[in-house]
Amino acid sequence: MADLKDIFECTQCGYCCQGETTVSLDENDQKRMVEALAISEAEVREKYWRVTGSVVQMKIVDGHCIFYDEGCTVHQGRPWRCAQWPLHPSILSDRDNFETIRASCPGIKREVSYEDFCRILKEIMAAQGTVHC
Ligand code: SF4
Ligand code: SF4
Repeated sequence: MADLKDIFECTQCGYCCQGETTVSLDENDQKRMVEALAISEAEVREKYWRVTGSVVQMKIVDGHCIFYDEGCTVHQGRPWRCAQWPLHPSILSDRDNFETIRASCPGIKREVSYEDFCRILKEIMAAQGTVHC
């Protein structure tokens, strides 16, 4: 049985939590984050979210997501796109995407070939339906 650790193990380097924007939160993400933080949605909105029209993102502080502090401090309530990263399905159809993502994510095992990476990822996706890192 393929194991996620055969192809990826997060080093907690924080690279994917850096930058001047974050992923956007859909409605399920928003609910999950509110529950994980155990405070009111109004407080979460005020303290942690940047809301632009219908787009909800996490605030950026000092060039990184407000929840980043040597790791994700809202791990259980993080958005699904964060949970999916770096195993984006586009990797499977485009080697260039794989190389681009691998270049920015040291958690992807260097010794695994693209072909083996795709094979193992497909096996995990078939068994689990989705992959959360
Ligand atoms: S997913 Fe990759 S880039 Fe993000 S913290 Fe883990 S190792 Fe670093
Ligand atoms: S929610 Fe967590 S994993 Fe997602 S960008 Fe913020 S710190 Fe990183």
